[in-house]
Amino acid sequence: MSPLVARRDDLVSLEAYHSPQVDAEVRLNTNESPFPPPPGWAEAFAEEIARISPNRYPDREAGALRQALADLHGVSPAEVFCANGSNEVLQCLLLAFGGPGRRAATFEPTYSLHGFIARLTGTEVHSAARDQRFGIDLEAAAALLARTQPAITFLCSPNNPTANTDPPELVDQLLRLAPGLVVVDEAYGQFAPVPVTRRPGDDGLVVVRTFSKTWALAAARVGYLLADPEVVAACQAVALPYHLSAYAQAAGLCALRFRAEMEDRVAQLVAERERLAAGLGALEVEVWPSQANFILFRPRGRSAGAVWRGLLERSVLVRDVSTRPELAGCLRVTVGTASENDRFLAALAECLA
Ligand SMILES: *Cc1c(COP(=O)(O)O)cnc(C)c1O
Repeated sequence: MSPLVARRDDLVSLEAYHSPQVDAEVRLNTNESPFPPPPGWAEAFAEEIARISPNRYPDREAGALRQALADLHGVSPAEVFCANGSNEVLQCLLLAFGGPGRRAATFEPTYSLHGFIARLTGTEVHSAARDQRFGIDLEAAAALLARTQPAITFLCSPNNPTANTDPPELVDQLLRLAPGLVVVDEAYGQFAPVPVTRRPGDDGLVVVRTFSKTWALAAARVGYLLADPEVVAACQAVALPYHLSAYAQAAGLCALRFRAEMEDRVAQLVAERERLAAGLGALEVEVWPSQANFILFRPRGRSAGAVWRGLLERSVLVRDVSTRPELAGCLRVTVGTASENDRFLAALAECLA
């Protein structure tokens, strides 16, 4: 076969991102919101899309959405970049600031797509291990940054899949130590008591957020970053023209009009999280404290795979994260509605009996 029809050498061993989309009555595997957006959102969205001219390209600058996000966060639209989910935001950051000959740093275990998307863009990935409670050890981090001089250092707070947050002092210290950008992925920021988001400045801080979790809009694919205008301009330069459809822009824009309803859902999920954690605590599992809308746990005396299958037999789907060495034996469950969480707890109790 001609080498030109073979895959890029650096990507041969890469497998497609894989989170099984299996049919189950209770789906607690991808950290989505268990609630649809509020009814008012659907009406507002229908009105907005009636105004779209399908034969015309969308606003390439996503001006209205960026203005609304700028208002939400008290920044200027020049400090906001929007894309198809935060995954495309991350891809644009890596296209603009990573690439061959450049490095990215991660603290493992963390969101696997940080390293995955980095590799897709030819960026080398270097990692330090988190400590036993999944915190970032400052000395190990300083050594990693000094040794590898990464163009991008990825943080994730709350961290997926371990559900703990990075203390703001640590983020400050890493901002001082990192030679390049420090990207804080805050997909679950609103579930944490102390949001990390601060006004990004010229100190290299980039905050990434998404509509997929707290805003109940995973289907719409909308994410954004807050950063210095130069970072935003660099992302716009590498994004494909008209990458964000008029429908996605409208979906995000309408969601922002229902902030109170969305915040109410977040509060409900936080309350459910505490109930779910207490329920797990009464079973034969090890549970880690969570500041997100999911919980990491490890069944005692049972393999993660066997428990995962046992739950699926009872039509409850969770995420098996046990293939990662640091997470041996662990599963991750998304906080669902009260009845979904009850079904999960009952099914798990049966699997462990
Ligand atoms: C779910 C998740 C995202 C969301 O990605 P989208 O592309 O916005 O759906 C981003 N970061 C982390 C850490 C996540 O867990």
